[in-house]
Amino acid sequence: MTYQGLIHRYGQYLDLPAHTKNISLLEGNTPLIPMPRLSREFGCELFVKFEGLNPTGSFKDRGMTAAISEAVGRGAQTVICASTGNTAASAAAYAARAGLRAVVLIPEGKVAAGKLAGAVAYGAEVIQIQGSFDDALTLVVEITQKTPIALVNSINPFRIEGQKTAAFEICDVLGGAPDWLCLPVGNAGNITSYWAGFKQYQKGLPQVLGVQAAGAAPLVLGYPVEKPETVATAIRIGKPARGEQALEAAHESNGRIISVSDEEILSAQRILASEGVWVEPASAAGLAGLMAESVRGSFDASGKKVVVVCTGHGLKDPSIITESFQSPKIIPMNYDALLGMIGGV
Ligand SMILES: *Cc1c(COP(=O)(O)O)cnc(C)c1O
Repeated sequence: MTYQGLIHRYGQYLDLPAHTKNISLLEGNTPLIPMPRLSREFGCELFVKFEGLNPTGSFKDRGMTAAISEAVGRGAQTVICASTGNTAASAAAYAARAGLRAVVLIPEGKVAAGKLAGAVAYGAEVIQIQGSFDDALTLVVEITQKTPIALVNSINPFRIEGQKTAAFEICDVLGGAPDWLCLPVGNAGNITSYWAGFKQYQKGLPQVLGVQAAGAAPLVLGYPVEKPETVATAIRIGKPARGEQALEAAHESNGRIISVSDEEILSAQRILASEGVWVEPASAAGLAGLMAESVRGSFDASGKKVVVVCTGHGLKDPSIITESFQSPKIIPMNYDALLGMIGGV
């Protein structure tokens, strides 16, 4: 049978109310890409779960199909979220699909171009607030407590239900859980979802390596970060809504949460691209964490199955790449000039 989206495929495992009305853009079913060169380097079997290939370019679509489907079923007319960008684009797309009004709050000037463009293209009302993501989240929580507007941030439990499906897919493809799962941690909904998904699916449990950016690492520091700063805007979060659950997932899985520098993140981004997978900076944090741990000798991957979750597509944040490159060289329009430039081999 042709693929019909996540609620159709995994609905029996998702705790969604009976009123849920399936709104899908055929999200999920993303590839688990083997990475032969990285596997050789670490002496393990390394796979990238490429979540950038979801309909709006990030894993947020997994939770959004569930959250919007529930909201529509209960008669909501407007949905709202705070976002570092990808939640906004996803909420906007699924709301458009369902015929709902979408309002998204983003931190002023801090959202990558491809994400903002997405939210606008799908017709959301985008509002910049003079504050951080964490401030925006506080505002949307307040308005959804006082009005019938539906909250679709990952505080919404149905987002977590939908996002569990990535763990199911990994188990279905590998025939069981991997030994390690490495992923970026921002607001910590995703790590919470993966852990809940693996536990529920009962095909084994991975050790979980959650990775924060050094300038936005409240879970490593043990206290909120007032002014989070990192090139990885999708994880630029100082007060993770599901921080406790993230720490629990790391602890229960015998894994850990660590932080990596922006340089390490950008270097991991280049390494992934050099093997054909271009991801946005935050999405490279999982690999950056794996590399940092392995350099420290605190991670022995040898012979293990390791899944690195790449949460969003490189196209979301193209300026990170173009800023660090020289613009393409210009030549006259003739064969000799071309041959002279590139050589014949
Ligand atoms: C949202 C997001 C994250 C962080 O996920 P959390 O659930 O907030 O921890 C990481 N990478 C990308 C690309 C994202 O969009």
